[in-house]
Amino acid sequence: MKSSNRVIMLGDCQSFYASVEKADHPEYKDRPLVVAGDPERRSGIVLAACPLAKGKGITTAERLGEALAKCPDLVVIKPRMQKYIDVSMQITEIYKTFTDLVEPYSIDEQFLDVTGSMHLFAESSEELANMIQSQVQEATGVYTRFGIAETKILAKTACDNYAKKNPSGIYTLTKEMLPETLWKRPVSDMFMAGSKMTRHFTVMGLPTIGSVAQTPLGKLKQMMRRKFGKNSDIKAEMYWRIANGIDDSPVRPGTHQVAPKSVGHMITLPRDYAKLEEIKVVLLGIYIKTCVHKGSNLLILWRNNIFQVV
Ligand SMILES: [Mg+2]
Repeated sequence: MKSSNRVIMLGDCQSFYASVEKADHPEYKDRPLVVAGDPERRSGIVLAACPLAKGKGITTAERLGEALAKCPDLVVIKPRMQKYIDVSMQITEIYKTFTDLVEPYSIDEQFLDVTGSMHLFAESSEELANMIQSQVQEATGVYTRFGIAETKILAKTACDNYAKKNPSGIYTLTKEMLPETLWKRPVSDMFMAGSKMTRHFTVMGLPTIGSVAQTPLGKLKQMMRRKFGKNSDIKAEMYWRIANGIDDSPVRPGTHQVAPKSVGHMITLPRDYAKLEEIKVVLLGIYIKTCVHKGSNLLILWRNNIFQVV
């Protein structure tokens, strides 16, 4: 198989906006800090919380008022998006010293294909990830985590589900490991599966990622058609491929330039947001996440508690 020899990393920045602010404000080093939509008003929304703030129970996208109730001595900083974009690009430049195949995926996540260049720098992909991690930390003060795998989807999965919880911040996930690792996890942990889809899968008798992966694709399509109608085949195949870690897409460099293609991004919010103020801040976050490197063809769909930007 052509793709089986690839070495792909997803580098993710921990608490990105908050880490950038902490690096810029050493006086707040040991204080819980959040970047929030509108610090003057308690109705603002937390866009990023540093690990110390998260330790106090503060979560991204919660209301600032709630966060301050949990932690009255919280440092609250107004977002400086241009600064975060600049640091994101600086990190891209560091990644590019290790491979020319770097694809910004969002403002704080980037794919690296190091298949061809790894041997120039290190004995193993973990050793290389560790080197890159140190360089980014030294240059920007931002701590990065790396998921390593043979496809982009598995690298992303390795990062989100394992590297972030690993003391080293680095985790390699091979296809052979899937039955013993990812497949045992609840379907709610699956990439792209929001709370609604999770409920549907559970009702369909598919409570784990492995149960989705091991359902023959034809059968999964049938099951989803019964729930969502004829047009759900693409969705069924998408989830089936994600669960099986199948993804042939290459790491596409050069997406810093304005790309003609539109991009997609979806996040699930912890609750419904009704006020325009709140929505604007959340949208700003998504907008930055999806469009910073990719131009601004933007169509926003908002249904239930899911924003979709396509
Ligand atoms: Mg991150």
